Amino acid sequence: LVRINNLHKSYSPTVQVLKGLNLDMAAGERLVVIGPSGGGKSTLLRVMMGLEEVNSGSVNFAGQSYIRADESKGKTAINLDVRQQIGMVFQHYTLFPHLTILQNLTLAPRKVRGESKSSAEERGMALLSRFGLGAKANAYPNQLSGGQKQRVAIARALMLDPKLMLFDEVTSALDPELVAEVEQVILQLAEQGMPMMIVTHDMWFAKNIASRVVFCAGGVVVEEGTPDEIFNAPKHERTQEFLNRVF
Ligand code: ATP
Ligand code: MG
Repeated sequence: LVRINNLHKSYSPTVQVLKGLNLDMAAGERLVVIGPSGGGKSTLLRVMMGLEEVNSGSVNFAGQSYIRADESKGKTAINLDVRQQIGMVFQHYTLFPHLTILQNLTLAPRKVRGESKSSAEERGMALLSRFGLGAKANAYPNQLSGGQKQRVAIARALMLDPKLMLFDEVTSALDPELVAEVEQVILQLAEQGMPMMIVTHDMWFAKNIASRVVFCAGGVVVEEGTPDEIFNAPKHERTQEFLNRVF
């Protein structure tokens, strides 16, 4: 489903973040990416969303190369039709504060796809109900808890029928008692077969949702394996060191 080829990315000549990162993901997989702060996890997801230029390398989705560094021009070519099949939720809520919850959900489908108001609202209400947020449709983001806002952010991403979801530390900014409600929604999506890449510091969640765990440090994939292999029998010293620190 995803093939990441030899990605290099630097923010400046002295800040080289991705250093030839390679990663493959099959359809139906749930990849959890773990690793030390500054190791390039967020940068990787942002590159996959076409939010960052890359210095070299490419990303394929469903057999199509949709992000490609054009080294002759020093530019990154992005195929937007492919890129639109990928949804992302960030650590900090990115809801539009001046729009209601339902309007947050219907904006992109109406703008991007020209979907009718009634059709988008019907789908939006169905998603909100499914996530236990039906009563909040006409509220504004600042009237919601952090956990509710993150569930809305997930619902909003789903409105565009993504074929892959990227989650970047979506529970890190939440009070501990709100974490579970957001993780439950993601687990529910996983059960329905949604392919996903998840960056998280929550090792309980990682173990429960991952089909494969990828340890990323220093801008490359250091080690990958099943949750059991990575958490119970890590091979690389860097992985062992990292896990000793977080457990
Ligand atoms: P964390 O676990 O703390 O979220 P991360 O693995 O997600 O870390 P990134 O956010 O990808 O790491 O950052 C990797 C490196 O790139 C860091 O050294 C960071 O300071 C740097 N960096 C990230 N974004 C920018 C930016 N917009 N401009 C300059 N440097 C950046
Ligand atoms: Mg990050």
